[in-house]
Amino acid sequence: MSWEDKIRKVVPYVAGEQPSGKVIKLNTNEFPYPPSPMVATRLYDMAQDEIDASDNMLRKYPNMDADKLVRAISQVYDIDYDKIFVGVGSDDVLAMAFLTYFNSDKPILFPDITYSFYDVWAEVFRIPYEQKPLDDNFFIKKEDYIGKDCGGIIIPNPNAPTGVLEDVAFFEDIIKNNPDCIVIIDEAYIDFGGKSALPLIDKYDNVVIVQTFSKSRALAGLRIGMAFSNPKLIKYLKDVKFSINSYTMNYPAIEIGTVSMLDTEYFNKTVNMLIKTREETKAELKELGFKFADSKSNFIFATHEKVPAREIFTKLKERNIYVRHWNKPRIDNHLRISIGTDEEMHTLIEALKEILN
Ligand SMILES: *Cc1c(COP(=O)(O)O)cnc(C)c1O
Repeated sequence: MSWEDKIRKVVPYVAGEQPSGKVIKLNTNEFPYPPSPMVATRLYDMAQDEIDASDNMLRKYPNMDADKLVRAISQVYDIDYDKIFVGVGSDDVLAMAFLTYFNSDKPILFPDITYSFYDVWAEVFRIPYEQKPLDDNFFIKKEDYIGKDCGGIIIPNPNAPTGVLEDVAFFEDIIKNNPDCIVIIDEAYIDFGGKSALPLIDKYDNVVIVQTFSKSRALAGLRIGMAFSNPKLIKYLKDVKFSINSYTMNYPAIEIGTVSMLDTEYFNKTVNMLIKTREETKAELKELGFKFADSKSNFIFATHEKVPAREIFTKLKERNIYVRHWNKPRIDNHLRISIGTDEEMHTLIEALKEILN
C-alpha cells in the first residue's frame, strides 16, 4: 500500500468568489452595511493597548471558554451561560457538531438542495447520509424526516439557497418524532424575519440551534458562530472541541464579538434596513419576470421565465455585478442574489433591465 492509499481525501466545499477591485458583490450573502461602530472603537483601543504595551493581550493565550463573549450572548439572548457554545464561524460550530452528535452507523438526513457544506462534513468525518429531495416548489417535505430511524438531522431555517422559511411548529414536529437522534437547526439567516426555534432547547433534550455573526451582524471576516442547547449537549460539544484545539476563539474575536453583540440598537436598525430593501427588490424582480419562493433571508433565489440563469449570471459579471449560480441539477436555472444596499440593488435592477431587453 502506497502513502497515496493512506491519505484522507475529500472534495472540498466551494465558496462564492471573492473578487478584488470595485465590484458589486451579491454572491456570498455578506451583510451590506458595516458592523456596529463599537467594533472600530474597540479595535482602535486594542491597538493602543498594544502600542503602549500597557496591556499586551496578544502575548497571552485567550480565555478558553471565550467567557466575556459568552456572557454578552447570554445577556442579550437571555439564555443561561451553560447553554451556549461559541466557535470560529458557524462552519466551525457545525463541523464540531457533526463530529460530536452524528456518531452512529445510521444515516443522517438533510435536504438535497441546502447548504453545500453538509455533505462535505459528512464525507470528511465518514458519516453516512441521505439527502431528502425538496418538493418542486423547494419546500421541505416534513414526512421525509419522521419515523426514519436516522443518525441525526440537520436543516437550515430559512433553508439556503432557497430562502424558504418554516415555522417553529414544523421543527417541533420533527424533533418530537425523533427523540433518539439529535436535530440541528442551522439558523444562519433567522434574524431576517424568521422566528427562532430557540425556545425548543428548554422543551426537548435533542435539539441544537446554530447561529452566526457572519450575516446579520456584518462580521463574516471575524469568524464567530454559536450553538444553543441544553447544558449536557453543550458539554459534549465542548469536550470534542477542546480535544482538537482549546483556544479556537482568538482575543480580538472575543473582544470585538462582545461589543457587536451588545449593540442591539445598531443591529435592529441595520437588519430592518436590509429587510426593507429585500421587500422592494422582490417587487422589482417580479416586475422583470423573475419567479421565486418568498424569502425571509438576506438573499432571493430567483429564476427568470424567459432568459436562462447562466446567461444572466455571465452578463451581470461582465458589468462587475456578482451573484451566485450553481451548475447543479434542479437549481441550474436559478440565481441566488444577496441583498445589498439600496444603491447596489438599484444598479442591479438597471443592469437586469438592459440584459433582459
Ligand atoms: C453562511 C452560512 C453558514 C456559515 O457561516 P459562518 O460564516 O461560518 O458563520 C452556515 N450555514 C449556512 C446555511 C450559511 O448560509
